[in-house]
Amino acid sequence: MNFSDSEIVASILTDEGFESSDDLLSADIVLLNTCSIREHAEDRVRKRLHYFRSLKKKNPGLTIGLLGCMAERTKNALMEEEQLLDLIAGPDSYRHLPGLLAQVGSGQRAVDTILSADETYADINPVRLDSNGVSAFISIMRGCENFCSYCVVPYARGQERSRDAGSIIREAKDLFLQGFREVTLLGQNVNSYLWGKGQNEISFSKLLEQVAKLDPLLRVRFATSHPKDLSPELIQVIASYPNICKAIHLPVQSGSNAVLDKMNRKYTREEYLEKIRAIRSLIPGCAISTDIITGFCNETEADHQQTIELMKEAAFDFAFMFKYSERPQTIAAEQYNDNVPAEVKERRLREIIDLQHELSSASNHKDLGETFEVLIEGESKRSNKQYFGRNSQNKVLVFPKTVQKPGEYIKVKVNRVTSATLIGEEV
Ligand code: SF4
Repeated sequence: MNFSDSEIVASILTDEGFESSDDLLSADIVLLNTCSIREHAEDRVRKRLHYFRSLKKKNPGLTIGLLGCMAERTKNALMEEEQLLDLIAGPDSYRHLPGLLAQVGSGQRAVDTILSADETYADINPVRLDSNGVSAFISIMRGCENFCSYCVVPYARGQERSRDAGSIIREAKDLFLQGFREVTLLGQNVNSYLWGKGQNEISFSKLLEQVAKLDPLLRVRFATSHPKDLSPELIQVIASYPNICKAIHLPVQSGSNAVLDKMNRKYTREEYLEKIRAIRSLIPGCAISTDIITGFCNETEADHQQTIELMKEAAFDFAFMFKYSERPQTIAAEQYNDNVPAEVKERRLREIIDLQHELSSASNHKDLGETFEVLIEGESKRSNKQYFGRNSQNKVLVFPKTVQKPGEYIKVKVNRVTSATLIGEEV
């Protein structure tokens, strides 16, 4: 989401005559787009800001701005107490950036962190930053109202709002005409996307279908799904279109009903596993990935074991795993005790990471000898004689260069696997 937001910011500023630069030392303005989801992310932002501050000593004209989720929560500390910033803009204030920069230019500090009920930046055509010319993100909604008890997003990014479906389709079509061959539809919970009313209502499954119908050569992905909103219709649509990628990210967070309830996730482990079974039976070969938080408030050893059992049963192909860190303002921070000792969190995290390593490795070994259609993304980092690309399941494949170019499809047979990559050759 932040990457996509940075592209919107670049577009707004480019229209005002600014130019983006990838050289920090020659830039006049540095805008840092921030994430509040974990304490670790905020610590990294603070370190970066101190570094930028040191640049300002050599270049007093440098403007330093902070964008995104940390804006509202940390504005006083970063701006007044630590004097690290000239400008702060929240996630719904990017249209005001030219005015805010002008304010800084006239010698004042500028702050705008007001959240909006309807801003979706629907009319803004993002500048594609650091693009490979093959894959692009399309933001389809903003904010979230699920209020999972550990999560800061509803406070940092405001209420959920869906973007005009027509503008999404147009953006996908333009990208395809420019040569892009893969789009990822983005939102905090894309399954609850809804545009229009009554007969003209467009749900996420309808939107996904319309984007997929643009051209069979355009691959479509999406992130992220909330398990409670993953509908049978959506599974059906994914199964029906070969160009909708067979990879679903379905964050489970915990395998224990007691913890899920405390997290306010609004599903049980049984309901979650039922959805996994439905996906596996209706979309054979679909990759399923997840997010897991370990050591949430009151999590017992038995709760942790249930997470381990669920991971085995779901046989996740990939997972993002974290130990719980309390985020200010959230229900958990206000009402629960962060009472799992740090060393217990560490140990549980290690256990689930080790297990996921085995599951991912088993998933990759199943692909040995299989042939996949791969969208070539570019040259492999390890060798200029090799390309890399992804299959529909979002796994990275590396293979010797062929006459095909990035942005084209190729059939690759897997003849070796590592824990993270499939290695093969064209067939
Ligand atoms: S669904 Fe829950 S975890 Fe995801 S962004 Fe919304 S509140 Fe946060």
